[in-house]
Amino acid sequence: MIRTLKLKLILTEEQKGSLLRTMELYTEAFDHAARWGFEHHRCGKLELQYAIYYEMRQAVPGLGAGLIQSAKDAACEALKRCKMRMAPRRKPHSAVRFPWKEAKVYFDSAKVSIYSVDGRIHAPVVLYDYLKKFKGWRCKLSTLIWNKKSRQFYLSVAVENKIPIEPVKGKTLGIDRGLNRVAVCSNNMFFDSSRINATRGKYAKNRQELQAKGTRSAIRLLRKQSGRERRFVTCENHRISKIIANTEFAVFALEDLAEINKCRWLDRRTNGKLRSWAYHQLERFLRYKAEELGKAVVLVDSTCTSQWCSRRGWIDKKSRKGSEFHCVKCGFHLDADLNASRIIARLGMSEASRLPIYQPYAAGDEVDVSGVRSKSLSPAASSRSTWAIDTPSLVP
Ligand SMILES: [Zn+2]
Repeated sequence: MIRTLKLKLILTEEQKGSLLRTMELYTEAFDHAARWGFEHHRCGKLELQYAIYYEMRQAVPGLGAGLIQSAKDAACEALKRCKMRMAPRRKPHSAVRFPWKEAKVYFDSAKVSIYSVDGRIHAPVVLYDYLKKFKGWRCKLSTLIWNKKSRQFYLSVAVENKIPIEPVKGKTLGIDRGLNRVAVCSNNMFFDSSRINATRGKYAKNRQELQAKGTRSAIRLLRKQSGRERRFVTCENHRISKIIANTEFAVFALEDLAEINKCRWLDRRTNGKLRSWAYHQLERFLRYKAEELGKAVVLVDSTCTSQWCSRRGWIDKKSRKGSEFHCVKCGFHLDADLNASRIIARLGMSEASRLPIYQPYAAGDEVDVSGVRSKSLSPAASSRSTWAIDTPSLVP
C-alpha cells in the first residue's frame, strides 16, 4: 500500500535559504544534463549516467551525488516528454525530487532530515493527527516543494507499508455516478446532488458574470472563487466516499470512466451549464478509504449499463426513458440510476471473484488489487446462466 503525504516543514529563514540554494544548484545540474541530452540526442538515464555524471559533478561542485543523479533523471524524463524537440528548462525554485536517503521522515519524533548544500537540515514538521498512523511505514521518494506566496517548504512523501494484501471477501456494492445524483448505490442509497448543484450553480453564475466583466479585480475574485469551489467539491467527495466505504460491503464496483469519456458527454447534455463532477477524485478517495479498511474497489466496463435490465439481463436501448427504466422484455420497472448501479454491482461481483487470481501474494508487493481493470466482461460475454444464480437478491 502506498500513500502520498504532504508535510509542512518548520524551518528558520537560514534553513530556507539553504534549501532555496539547493534548488538553484539542482536546476543548474538539470539544465546541464538537459542541454547535453538535447545536443547529443540522448535521453537514456544510464546513457547519461555514463556519459556526463562526472562532468556534472564538476560543473555543479556544491551539489551532492544523490541530487546530481536525481537532476539527471529528471532531465531525461523531461527530454522524453518533449520528444527531444528542445532542451527542457526548469524554473530555479521548481519542485525537487529527493532520493529516499536524502530526505528521511521520522514519524515518531515528527522530524525530517533533509539534504541541503549547507549540510543536512534536521527540522520538525507539522504533525497532523492523521499522520500518526503512518508510523513504521517506509519512505520511498520525496519531493520538496517551495510555495513562494506563503514562503513555506512542503515535503511530499510517498510512504509504503508491507502488509500483505488479503483477498477481499464479502458483498459487492455497485455505484453509479451521474449528474443528477452524484452517486446511486445498489443498496438503495442515494447521494442527491440538489444541494451540491445549487452551490455549484451559484458559483457558475458568479463565474459567468465575473468573466463577462473581465476587469483585474474580477479576475482576482475569480481566482479566489475557484479555490473555494474546488475545496467545496473536495469536501463533498470526502464526505460521500467516507459514507460509502464504511458500509458493510467489502467490494465497491464503479464504472470505468476512462473507457468512454463520460464526463464530456455529461457536459454536452447540460450545455456546459455545470462542469461535470470530479468523479476521478471521488474514485481516488473511495479507493484509499476502502484500502485502509481492507476493502477493494473494482472498475467495470461501462458499456450499456444504463440499458441493461437488472432483473433478467436483457439489453435494449428502448428500456431507458429519461430517469426511468422500463424493461421492454419483462416489464421490470425501476429508477434508471438504481438499475444501472445494480448492473454495476453484478459486473463487479464477477470482477471481484477473480481478484485473488490476479494477485500473486508471494511474487511481489507491487500488485495493486484495486487497480484491476475489467476488459473481458463485455455484455455479450456474460452468459444467461450466471444471471439466474444471483438474481433473487437484487430484485426488490
Ligand atoms: Zn427485463
